[in-house]
Amino acid sequence: LSERAETLLGYARAELLGRRLAEFMPPGEACFTDSEEGCRGFVHRFVTRAGAPIWQSVSAVPLKDAQGRFCGLRGTAADVTARKSAETRIEHLTTRDALTGLPNRALAAERAAQAILGAARGRAELALLALDLDRFRLVNEALGHQAGDALLRAVAERLQSVMRDEWARTGGDEFVLLAPGLRSAEEAAALARRVLGVLARPFILDGHTVTAGASIGIALYPRDGRDFAELAKNAEAALQHAKERGRGTFSFYTPQLSARAGERLRVEGELRGALARGELALHWQPVVRGRGSVIGAEALVRWRHPARGLLMPEDFVPLAEECGLIGALGEWTLERALSQAGAWQRTLPGKPWFAINVSAPELAQGDAFVDRLRTALEANGLEGSRIELEVTERVLVSHIDENLETMRRIGELGVRFSIDDFGTGYSSLAYLRRLPVDKLKIDRAFVRAIDTDPADEAIVRTIAALASTLGLAVAAEGVESKPQLDRLLALGCEHWQGHHFSPPLAPVEFEALLKRANSGQGRAA
Ligand code: C2E
Ligand code: CA
Ligand code: CA
Repeated sequence: LSERAETLLGYARAELLGRRLAEFMPPGEACFTDSEEGCRGFVHRFVTRAGAPIWQSVSAVPLKDAQGRFCGLRGTAADVTARKSAETRIEHLTTRDALTGLPNRALAAERAAQAILGAARGRAELALLALDLDRFRLVNEALGHQAGDALLRAVAERLQSVMRDEWARTGGDEFVLLAPGLRSAEEAAALARRVLGVLARPFILDGHTVTAGASIGIALYPRDGRDFAELAKNAEAALQHAKERGRGTFSFYTPQLSARAGERLRVEGELRGALARGELALHWQPVVRGRGSVIGAEALVRWRHPARGLLMPEDFVPLAEECGLIGALGEWTLERALSQAGAWQRTLPGKPWFAINVSAPELAQGDAFVDRLRTALEANGLEGSRIELEVTERVLVSHIDENLETMRRIGELGVRFSIDDFGTGYSSLAYLRRLPVDKLKIDRAFVRAIDTDPADEAIVRTIAALASTLGLAVAAEGVESKPQLDRLLALGCEHWQGHHFSPPLAPVEFEALLKRANSGQGRAA
């Protein structure tokens, strides 16, 4: 017995002599030391006199008595406590979500596999709940990522107040609960109600009162799936259904939901193909000044679906945003719109400009987007001033500084910006002032009843006053009648578009209309 053993374990020599190594291992973990097996070497945990765990890597040779019988080990130990605790930390990092400390998806899957095994043996049921916050993105965008993080931590705490050990965080604002020991779907429903109840109470973040709300999808073992992957997928489908039903509720999985999820997947696949097969097209809606001269056009994407006919953006743009196809769709739109604009710049009278809708994820590409735009302008011999990009207030709230810089660089190309759907988001005046934008486009919702509803008229009046204070132009969309147009013009709205003048048109139709309109024979608006 060396002195080293004394210092390591913290016992005096006299206390160590005559005792078995196993006595210094945590109860229930003792191993090896009484047989020749220990001579293969082992790494094991010991407990010091003070109760601290230490890890030792032991290599040993057998001790034999005079008759050549095994009577113990003689060996050396190297302290590997530091390495072991690093491994534990890494294990924690790879199995835990750093923000909330909850298990991550990998660990959830592992635990689920064990729980399923147990349930299978005991012929018991299990419920898997998939939960997603209803207003997480809003909080993130309006109050910033720190507030978003704080919300997720607070949510995790409340979730654990309902069920201590079984939650995992599987993605941004997605949580999964594996609830064993449930005896019926009713019990799962009661649990979901309790969870929604604790999340319905407001959170205080940074002095703001925020109600996050949540939706839940439930899949039951064994009915809805026999392993974690299948249960999670089906709970997710049920969750989507709950969201569609109006948020703040829960849904159980049904096989019909799978069919719907399959349908979405199919459309996603089709959309990928549509880009490649050239099934997308741009239509152009004339933008009018005053009572009749066409001064520009907005590009609006359409999908000429081989079986379902002409699909409108609302049928596939949101889907493209969700499944990550928006980048490819945006690239296509930009290329197509600029090459069309380049051709028209040479052939159409009256120097019209062309507006293109840009989604938040596209602008968030920053330099890559600016480079693509610059290249496309050059390739088509277009002056930047012929192009206007329409962005929604959404891009002005999250990543505001990055987006501002991107917009500033785009401005250097001569390209202008307008804010689309103005009045529906939450732009603050402070942001508006910092932005390199030229125009506010009043949302269609306020135009619809402008001639009949005083509240809508007041909103438009306010937006027009705001624009004039900030030195911005005002445009309106969705103008369908003469009374609407009269009100808008009286309120100082300079540009407008809408069915009252023309719906979006295929390129040849737009060409024809522009030639007619600008040679003085256009429809009087
Ligand atoms: P938006 O930018 O607000 O486009 C105006 C929408 O109003 C268009 O719908 C247009 O057809 C419609 N509209 C125009 N005049 C009238 C009218 O008088 N009455 C009524 N009821 N509607 C009118 P559309 O083409 O279905 O586009 C819907 C939305 O899809 C667009 O809203 C835009 O946010 C998005 N979108 C369209 N094309 C693209 C695109 O190329 N890229 C991106 N990122 N989004 C696009
Ligand atoms: Ca638009
Ligand atoms: Ca709009």
